[in-house]
Amino acid sequence: MITIGAGSGGVASSRRAGSYGARVAIVEEGGSAAPACCAAACRKSSWSMARNSPTPSPTPRAFGWSVAPPRFDWPALIGAKNKELDRLEQIYVNMLKNSGVEIIEGRGVLLDPHTVEVAGRRYTAKNILVATGGHPTVPNIPGIEHVISSNEALDLPQLPRKIVIVGGGYIASSSPASSAASAARSSS
Ligand SMILES: Cc1cc2nc3c(=O)[nH]c(=O)nc-3n(C[C@H](O)[C@H](O)[C@H](O)COP(=O)(O)OP(=O)(O)OC[C@H]3O[C@@H](n4cnc5c(N)ncnc54)[C@H](O)[C@@H]3O)c2cc1C
Repeated sequence: MITIGAGSGGVASSRRAGSYGARVAIVEEGGSAAPACCAAACRKSSWSMARNSPTPSPTPRAFGWSVAPPRFDWPALIGAKNKELDRLEQIYVNMLKNSGVEIIEGRGVLLDPHTVEVAGRRYTAKNILVATGGHPTVPNIPGIEHVISSNEALDLPQLPRKIVIVGGGYIASSSPASSAASAARSSS
């Protein structure tokens, strides 16, 4: 089997097929196997790190302690997120390798029901699984040039002071945008 896309779906199905004895290769264009689920996990950890800001309890003050207001360090958060992403990515790569899955880096192009081309090289298999996930869509509205998606929000160089989140689903509530909003509140 050849799987195109090493996201949550592609990794899980490739590992399962490998564990049943199939010869499996997985094609991933985003660097090495860097599943979106890793990125999602990192988004969630960014959110948790921002949300778990230290809030000084009034009790120490009542006993004469003065506590400096906590300072939020956005580059430290992004650095910790990138470190966690590297760690998770390595775990995914090892899991795939331990299941006997070959990792092919590059963009897979489906040529016919049994052939995938990656960087000019053709690979054939009886079964090809397309597990390429989805991409954020942005509506064509005035001011769209100021819009970023949750993907770009993961790599913002600075903490935004103001942000409007369009949509209120689970991505809106777990993305770095809401981390930023939470962090901005704690550091203002
Ligand atoms: C901010 C955010 C938070 C989330 N939080 C949660 C959560 O808490 N719980 C939860 O269950 N889900 C969560 N999700 C959703 C979850 O990440 C997705 O449902 C899941 O990743 C979908 O898996 P997939 O395998 O279909 O696609 P993806 O994980 O998107 O993987 C697709 C992969 O295919 C690769 N690819 C695409 N085209 C090609 C090509 N032509 N050649 C080679 N590679 C290609 C991409 O690089 C990508 O790695 C969240 C998503 C986001 C964005």
